[in-house]
Amino acid sequence: MKKLEVGILGATGMVGQRFVSLLEHHPWFEVAWLAASEKSAGKTYAEACNWRLRDPMPKSARELQVHECKAGEHAGKIPQLVFSSLDSKVAGEVEKEFARAGHVVVSNSSNHRMDADVPLLIPEVNPEHLALVRGQRKERGWKGMIVTNPNCTTVGLAMSLAPLEKAFGLEKVLMTSMQAVSGAGYPGVPTLDIMGNVIPYIGGEEEKVERETQKLLGKFADGRVTPGDFAVSAHCNRVLVEDGHTESISVSLRSKAKLEDLIEVWRTFRSVPQERELPSAPKHPIVVREERDRPQPKFDLNVEHGMATVIGRARPCPVLQFKYTALSHNTIRGAAGAALLNAELMKSEGYLD
Ligand code: NAP
Repeated sequence: MKKLEVGILGATGMVGQRFVSLLEHHPWFEVAWLAASEKSAGKTYAEACNWRLRDPMPKSARELQVHECKAGEHAGKIPQLVFSSLDSKVAGEVEKEFARAGHVVVSNSSNHRMDADVPLLIPEVNPEHLALVRGQRKERGWKGMIVTNPNCTTVGLAMSLAPLEKAFGLEKVLMTSMQAVSGAGYPGVPTLDIMGNVIPYIGGEEEKVERETQKLLGKFADGRVTPGDFAVSAHCNRVLVEDGHTESISVSLRSKAKLEDLIEVWRTFRSVPQERELPSAPKHPIVVREERDRPQPKFDLNVEHGMATVIGRARPCPVLQFKYTALSHNTIRGAAGAALLNAELMKSEGYLD
């Protein structure tokens, strides 16, 4: 099969690098076009990018030229599918410009996630929300479209909640995060702020997690999404961990369930990406650990190539009903891997033909 050429907006950043790395051996897509800020434009990727991943920069990307993020500039040369990991200060307008110019923009940035006509997608959780793009293109008169994935903290939470919502209904959710420094981009949080410290504030994060979780678990009907009817309260903290967001979660459910019922629905959770065997889909989207001290980022981060949510410490909660710990890779499942799986879902449904 001839691979589909793709572009990356924000290719030099933390998430952009993950895109380049994950796409190196992708069976369907290949990187053909890269873009970043004015300061990087005109350089080769090797010159422009301060590569921070342990795997070496793919040879195929080193000599690619970095362009400015302008849709019209190189008309005809920019692939139809562009992934976006742009700084949110610029992503809003740039992504719209590309969608207007006919590109399919699969974005990590927060700017359009809550737009009523933009799918906020986790392929295992709400694949049917993808159909929102029909109204988006019609109403906005676009040839292209924007599809988003959630915030890196929302992903692990929503993945763990989706099977519970389906089986028992959710009433209340309380989540306290311990978020890795790589979630703040590069160079991120200053050493003197985070060394030996916990920062109990990440601007806008708690509101994003609360709203996005309700949209993701909302019902799609008549061309719109009605947010999930449950309360979510998030406390977000930055900790000195390189990669991997850990979350302490308590829930109360609408129907009666035993602890073993929760574990069973997590263990058996499968969805569209697994049925269609999409290339980036984890075989087990949720992995349950039974040891009393897992999951931990140090040991469980790369389970299923960083695409699974790892759950452990499931137990009764004396305030709500149940509590557990969830771990998710913030720059893979929480960013580049999430967008890649979204694009694979879109391809499997004919949106990229
Ligand atoms: P980052 O490391 O700061 O990278 C930002 C990228 O945006 C770089 O490629 C940068 O290019 C480019 N950029 C900055 N200003 C620009 C401008 N004026 N015009 C064009 N390009 C510009 O950030 P990141 O961590 O990769 O995050 C990227 C996006 O993904 C953000 O919206 C973030 O909220 C979201 N996100 C991040 C994570 C995570 O775990 N890190 C998870 C989920 C979502 P230069 O190198 O040329 O400056």
